[in-house]
Amino acid sequence: MDRHYDAVIVGAGLAGLRAAIELAGRARVAVISKVFATRSHSGAAQGGIGAAIGNEEEDRWEWHMFDTVKGSDYLGDQDAIEVMAKDAPRTIYELEHLGVPFNRTRDGRIAQRAFGGHTRDFGKAPVKRACYAADRTGRVILDTLWEQSLRKGIDFFDEYHVLSLMINGSSCSGVVAYELATGAIVGFHSKAVLLATGGAGRIFKVTSNALASTGDGMAMAYRAGAPLEDMEFVQFHPTGIYKLGILISEAARGEGGVLRNAKGERFMEHYAPVIKDLAPRDMVSRCILEEIRAGRGIDGKDFVHLDLTHLGQDVIGHKLAEIAGFAKTYAGVDPAREPIPVHPTCHYMMGGIAANADGEVVVDAGATPLPGLFAAGECACVSVHGANRLGCNSLLDTLVFGRRTGGAIRDFIQTVKAPKPSDAFRKKAESRMAELLAIEGPEQIGAVMTELQHTMMEHVSVFRHAKGLQAALANIRELKERCARIAILDKGKCFNRNLLDSIELGQMLDLAEVITLGALYRGESRGAHWREDFPKRDDEKFLHHTMVHLSGGAPQIFSRPVAITRFEPRERTY
Ligand SMILES: Cc1cc2nc3c(=O)[nH]c(=O)nc-3n(C[C@H](O)[C@H](O)[C@H](O)COP(=O)(O)OP(=O)(O)OC[C@H]3O[C@@H](n4cnc5c(N)ncnc54)[C@H](O)[C@@H]3O)c2cc1C
Repeated sequence: MDRHYDAVIVGAGLAGLRAAIELAGRARVAVISKVFATRSHSGAAQGGIGAAIGNEEEDRWEWHMFDTVKGSDYLGDQDAIEVMAKDAPRTIYELEHLGVPFNRTRDGRIAQRAFGGHTRDFGKAPVKRACYAADRTGRVILDTLWEQSLRKGIDFFDEYHVLSLMINGSSCSGVVAYELATGAIVGFHSKAVLLATGGAGRIFKVTSNALASTGDGMAMAYRAGAPLEDMEFVQFHPTGIYKLGILISEAARGEGGVLRNAKGERFMEHYAPVIKDLAPRDMVSRCILEEIRAGRGIDGKDFVHLDLTHLGQDVIGHKLAEIAGFAKTYAGVDPAREPIPVHPTCHYMMGGIAANADGEVVVDAGATPLPGLFAAGECACVSVHGANRLGCNSLLDTLVFGRRTGGAIRDFIQTVKAPKPSDAFRKKAESRMAELLAIEGPEQIGAVMTELQHTMMEHVSVFRHAKGLQAALANIRELKERCARIAILDKGKCFNRNLLDSIELGQMLDLAEVITLGALYRGESRGAHWREDFPKRDDEKFLHHTMVHLSGGAPQIFSRPVAITRFEPRERTY
């Protein structure tokens, strides 16, 4: 079957929906999502969205910009960060007017709270910059944007899994998707495609990410020849529930929670004397693991405690209700009475599909756009987060750049004719699916997936060194071969998860290879990328973006300069 639109948006998280709203009424738009729209991972966002609206205390967009640049360990592009920090207050009021129920101050204004790395006056002290709705901020924004999208007549294709991009010569003219309920392959032809497919945390054994965060958009763009940027920068959030990785939001520390080691010490005081537990995530994750390595994990084990017991039932009940529920259900502790066992969990991809501040996917060091292909949200690298993202800057990124990309698509589609539909892409996908189903091989998805997640956790997570990275790379390449011999046991057409899991696994293996290659290439420590064999940041050799693209079927690395406009790189202390 074939369908025709002006613009196709892959992904119904905040980035996809914000772009759709921008296009509504001006173009025929389809939003495709492999899960039901409101189950997108954006709905799991807890803590807040950052903007210098200064409702609780003085704040300025320049401070927000500075914190983001410093948080990024000076790898973020400052022109794009300026766009985001300046546009943040407008974004919050827009959400308010669309109906997002933010928490309020006593006098009725939008309430704000402290978060990691948010400071006043260029790093002097913590500032309250995170706007929030209890600890369900993503949920309320996603539901609001979804309602608005329905109201504006956007066509949704929920539970359609996009398999590949239609790249005609040098431009993009649609996507091929698989309908989960029937197994039908559908060609979506359009003048423009926006990839808004979210993150890829599932590559790692312990993660806060949803099951659907398998990096499909990144892998599709990469396979179609577009470069991936800064993929070695993978964020580990300091406070995942021990063993499970389910997130306990940074808002818990923003509201006054503290981390403690086996001796009961508030150890962050030693590492970040000014902002302590509110240091950025890369630092806090490393500090937790340092404490564990020094034998100060709780009961000698590999976790520490997040202590909220002094906050009182009222604060926990009103502002942290969701995570209190998670702690009770998954760790069996009541955070008002006992500390929560926590450990770093894979949380966010700073890297992604190389894109400019209008969401155009760019293909070379000179930032040449690939006509018709756009990317926004976590799957894109604009790059505003550089080597480490600050809390509350991702929801902001999805909305600021989702809107801008929607605007850019609106302008782009005026300038091009509808592409001549070809059924070649659909036919190719149909035969690929038939081939996959016919594989008799001895391998099983679960075994290959578990080994990948284990290897990435062991060698490519918070601490890295050349030997481990090389071992990981060799293992990933072996797993790629084994993946080609996976037998799909379900041969049916109705909700064939077995088939889709195997496709997702193949894509995750490609991304794991790119992440590991980038980590090996970058012989320095910067932000979330910490090389034990190169423990210093090396601006002379590595103050640039790592770009990896496929050339002749093999990954090749090149680089792109960092945009530095206002803040020269300095040592990063907190
Ligand atoms: C537990 C948790 C808490 C967080 N809390 C915060 C917070 O408080 N503040 C903050 O700023 N950030 C937070 N983040 C990060 C932030 O939520 C995400 O980075 C952001 O929501 C990503 O939005 P997105 O629109 O890019 O993608 P997502 O919301 O991840 O949506 C991806 C969409 O793509 C679709 N998709 C993917 N692949 C395919 C395919 N092959 N075919 C069809 N559809 C596909 C999915 O169905 C989905 O609709 C949190 C993240 C997590 C995991």
